[in-house]
Amino acid sequence: MVRNNEQLVKKLDELWEEEKLFLKTLGSFPSTLGNETEVQEFVYHYLQDMGLQTESLKVDPELLKKYDNFGKPEWSYEDRPVVVGQWKSSGPKKGKSLILQSHMDVVNAGPEEQWDTNPYSPVIKGDNMYGRGLLDMKGGFTAIVFAVKALRNLGVELGADLQIQSVIEEECTGNGALAMLDQGYTAEGALIPEPTHMRLVHSQLGVLWLRVKVKGAGAHVERAENAQNAILKAQKLMESLMHYREHINSREKHPDFAHHPHPLNVNIGTIEGGNWASSVPTECTFEARVGFYPGTDPDTVQEEVKQWLWDAANEDEWLKDAQPDITFFGFSAPGYTISKQEDVMEQVTSTHYAVTGAQAENLAFTATTDLRVFGEFNIPATCYGPSGGNMHAPNEYIELSSLKTVTRVIAEFILRWCEEK
Ligand SMILES: [Zn+2]
Repeated sequence: MVRNNEQLVKKLDELWEEEKLFLKTLGSFPSTLGNETEVQEFVYHYLQDMGLQTESLKVDPELLKKYDNFGKPEWSYEDRPVVVGQWKSSGPKKGKSLILQSHMDVVNAGPEEQWDTNPYSPVIKGDNMYGRGLLDMKGGFTAIVFAVKALRNLGVELGADLQIQSVIEEECTGNGALAMLDQGYTAEGALIPEPTHMRLVHSQLGVLWLRVKVKGAGAHVERAENAQNAILKAQKLMESLMHYREHINSREKHPDFAHHPHPLNVNIGTIEGGNWASSVPTECTFEARVGFYPGTDPDTVQEEVKQWLWDAANEDEWLKDAQPDITFFGFSAPGYTISKQEDVMEQVTSTHYAVTGAQAENLAFTATTDLRVFGEFNIPATCYGPSGGNMHAPNEYIELSSLKTVTRVIAEFILRWCEEK
């Protein structure tokens, strides 16, 4: 029995050096899409060594197709497991069961020459630790692990089951989290410590990805007047997507995002075309991300985007015949909302207040997280996690003081939610 918070604070202080070292180690794995095997193996053994009942589970896209949140992958799931460590209560049940989930995939670090330090060799400067994925979200995972470790080291016995879940593909499909819940690893509430600057997510946008392939008619530049430059044709369609962005932002806003000047982003993320400076390119392909409000079906948005691009193509003499090829892949992610009166929202808020003396803010998030997967399984869930900067950019860092605070908040939240036996 933790009789007072002093014991917990003392234990977390004792573990602090080890906690930072754990984060540094996690950050040394370049766990980009397709390269999560080693970090997941490390996590598996770590959770097992903590005495948790640990499983490594396969992600089988065939089993996930039936869900709204399924994202169409273009890659294999061989040796890319999701990992769960369970802390089972020996009963009788007192509190509520809980999932603490984090994603282990990170986005590419490139261009690496824009980093001041090696992205996969974390470095501490002052209160910050720098490295790819430390903020998004290996820091959050570290907070979960050390919150649980501190409680276990204190001899706490919980009144309900707790799970630590380490998933993949939060950054592209959400299929990792989906596979975990699909295989029965559910609970009565969930917390994902994404880097929210200690705010609670109560609403998030939907996101979809698309790829547009444009054909031209190539030639040597001296005959360029007869050729159709695929890059320039693609540019027309990219511009039309920028008009689409203004169009969707000029519509009436979802109430959760009414305060935001420009909530729906459309991003052109990649472009590829041409192979020689003196040849007219015959093909150009670009990929884009489109945001939309919660409550809208991703299929409806796909249709709208497709129609918008076809309309733009029809205004061009060449493109109206050489119709662009539009495909959707990766994210097909609906939005997510949770009532601020839900238990998980109120309990994280009150724990944050008890630890920091400050009122935690709520956040309507203009991107997506795996929360929406919990939405599909009717499991109340929110994100609440540490602070830092340069997410998805060079010199990503986490503020260590916030990691320490969040670790303590999560530990105390576990005691409130699962209760002690
Ligand atoms: Zn994240």
